[in-house]
Amino acid sequence: MVDLVSQYEKIKPAIDSAIMDVIQNANFINGSEVTAFQEDLKEYLSVKHVIPCANGTDALQIAMMALDLKPGDEVITPSFTYIATTEVIALLGLKPVFVEVNKDTFCVDAASIEAAITPKTKAIVPVHLYGQAADMNAIMDIAKKYNLFVIEDNAQAIGSDYHLTDGTVVKTGTIGDIGCTSFFPSKNLGCYGDGGAIFTNNDELALKLKMIANHGQSKKYYHDVVGCNSRLDTIQAAVLRIKLRQLDNYIDARRDVADYYDGFFGAMKGVKIPVRSHDSKHVFHQYTLTLEGHNRDGLNEYLAERDIPSMIYYPIPAHRQKMFASFGSGDLILPVTDWLTERVISLPIHTEMQQEQLELITKTVAEYINN
Ligand SMILES: *Cc1c(COP(=O)(O)O)cnc(C)c1O
Repeated sequence: MVDLVSQYEKIKPAIDSAIMDVIQNANFINGSEVTAFQEDLKEYLSVKHVIPCANGTDALQIAMMALDLKPGDEVITPSFTYIATTEVIALLGLKPVFVEVNKDTFCVDAASIEAAITPKTKAIVPVHLYGQAADMNAIMDIAKKYNLFVIEDNAQAIGSDYHLTDGTVVKTGTIGDIGCTSFFPSKNLGCYGDGGAIFTNNDELALKLKMIANHGQSKKYYHDVVGCNSRLDTIQAAVLRIKLRQLDNYIDARRDVADYYDGFFGAMKGVKIPVRSHDSKHVFHQYTLTLEGHNRDGLNEYLAERDIPSMIYYPIPAHRQKMFASFGSGDLILPVTDWLTERVISLPIHTEMQQEQLELITKTVAEYINN
């Protein structure tokens, strides 16, 4: 699905020397590259605070810990997402309330959010799925109306632009109270191991987030709140600094692949190409087709037999996962989520795709669809 080796080859000298520098200085934990990356990312996102951490799941967990929620408080999340978004809610003793997504954008549906609000609701976690922003204008209006926190799961959409109703354009992850991201290797901005970061424009929240990520420590050996230990390694920060300079090029390369796929599949019967919302820039972490009237699993197998990767993101929605059985969410009726779960299929998309690969993939998909 991705080609991280070819991508590395193009930036090899810079990466190799940056990694060697860290090793030669033995600056493995909280080295200067971590602070430098933090500054670079702040500037790229135009956000006041960036708190690096160990991975995207930790970022979400720390974000939720900073909101002082109480056991049983409800957090609204789409069910159609990667499990990490929803798992941390339950881990903290909070109640995940699963809602629908929009059939066209794959992102959480604002009307479903509003319908799910109760006096116990404290936060909303929109996910910018596959690289496209959720309906943040509507979500922020709802959050304001009901006094709720918004934590953006930006793990799949770093670098995406969003048009606010006031006319300004901002980066996803900087719109809600807190934004979270992952630097898992295959993400649009990926490191060479695990990594993550938290963003906020709120000074008070920034202090709390920083403290929680560092054992709840306010000054050395003074621990004010229960926290955790979640750091971005210096080596990963060094890699990320170099890759951040390429991020806009990487996004352009992904969008070129998406344009090619759109051109090919756009007119194909029973194949729906990803809908691009008018208020955001899709950064195509995934290129996901929705098959109507064709056997999705059949296509998945047909491609696999011909050594072409394709993936189902995600085959089982969160509300049907066993881990949430105690919340009784398996009985929930989420027709759009279930409908999509049976029909979506993601094709290879990355920064190094060759024309021949695109031709082979599209030709093979067409063979299956037309037979
Ligand atoms: C990747 C991902 C995460 C988790 O990131 P990790 O770094 O693997 O912990 C969370 N949410 C979404 C939507 C993701 O795609």
